[in-house]
Amino acid sequence: INTNPQFPNTKSSMLGMVGGGQLGRMFVHEAQALGFKVTVLEPEAGSPAAHAADAHIQAAYDDATALQKLAEACASFTTEFENVPASSLAKLAETGFVAPSAACVSIAQDRIEEKAFFTRCAPQTGILPAPHAVLRTAEDLEKVSADLFPGILKTARMGYDGKGQVRVKSMEELCTAFANLKGVVCVLEKMLPLAYEISVLVARGADGQAVVYPIAENVHRDGILFTTTVPSPHVSADAALKTQNAALKLIADINYVGVLCIEFFVLQDGSVVVNEMAPRPHNSGHYTIDACVTSQFAQQVRAMARLPLGDVRQHSPCVMLNILGDIWFDGDVVRQPAWDKVLALPSAHLHLYGKAEARRARKMGHITFIATSLEQAQDEMRQACVILG
Ligand code: ADP
Ligand code: MG
Repeated sequence: INTNPQFPNTKSSMLGMVGGGQLGRMFVHEAQALGFKVTVLEPEAGSPAAHAADAHIQAAYDDATALQKLAEACASFTTEFENVPASSLAKLAETGFVAPSAACVSIAQDRIEEKAFFTRCAPQTGILPAPHAVLRTAEDLEKVSADLFPGILKTARMGYDGKGQVRVKSMEELCTAFANLKGVVCVLEKMLPLAYEISVLVARGADGQAVVYPIAENVHRDGILFTTTVPSPHVSADAALKTQNAALKLIADINYVGVLCIEFFVLQDGSVVVNEMAPRPHNSGHYTIDACVTSQFAQQVRAMARLPLGDVRQHSPCVMLNILGDIWFDGDVVRQPAWDKVLALPSAHLHLYGKAEARRARKMGHITFIATSLEQAQDEMRQACVILG
């Protein structure tokens, strides 16, 4: 495999993207701005990324012929969604440079492996995952400690935006919830007293050089990210340094190449717990497009093309507000949100993902409020919430 830098604006400047969602779309925009081209592999017609890409291979993520075509078109590959079959990434790695690797993506695809990884690294990071138990069969239920209640039952694989999670207060509720999942492997996590949630975005090049972005503070609603505020209004200098160092240790430990986002909980007693990681640019890093010298998507392009990583410096305080499909609905009536009023707010940078159909809880876009003070960004974010209803 060629590990020399891949240059833009040449005949070998095609990048391969597995996945066609909004993360892929924003990646395409940044790749093209840098002079690269992108081929997207995505089974759905008219996906956000395929709309923007230079080429679209419409096929399943594990279609052998499609992977062959993608392999022939591109010299390097990445993915924008974490449930891509690791075997597809392994296949692409036979002919080109894949970042992140199938091995790294596999860890993040499985909460059990992910927690084992965090636990193994805890002597160096000083940060553990939440107390938890692994539930593979009904027999494992008997070994669950009473300490873990109230808890959250999470499917080990395929969970996102709070999907695949059930809150359980007792052993009885756990047994019912686990039985309802019909043999799906799960983890039961102790419900922790959260003070606030943060995420740390890190990126690492093939040469081992790594960079870490400022701490992002995240508010979730119904398990879905609602806002990201940077700088974090709550994080202490201590917790910031500790989580940033942990992120750098974790990314190096598995020789990860590309952008990685790690979510942490800060508990009411000030202690820090590591929650999960996403092996790709992350919703809580969208603010970097408008507020940092190098966005998380440009960073992913640089890492996969073996080019130097960019400066992570944030130049403006900001708040990112997610736009969900719910605001298109007034009862049963579908309407267009008042974008004219939103765009009249001086700090608003609107990003819409080009999804044809609005659905409740579907991520349709985001707005980053960029101001000279965090207070102004927060104030305009609140005004936008009122405008959008
Ligand atoms: P997802 O993959 O859906 O993002 P997470 O594990 O991040 O799943 O859980 C989603 C949200 O649920 C978290 O951001 C947090 O607000 C809440 N949550 C998850 N686990 C716990 C826990 N152990 N204690 C308290 N809250 C939790
Ligand atoms: Mg999460």
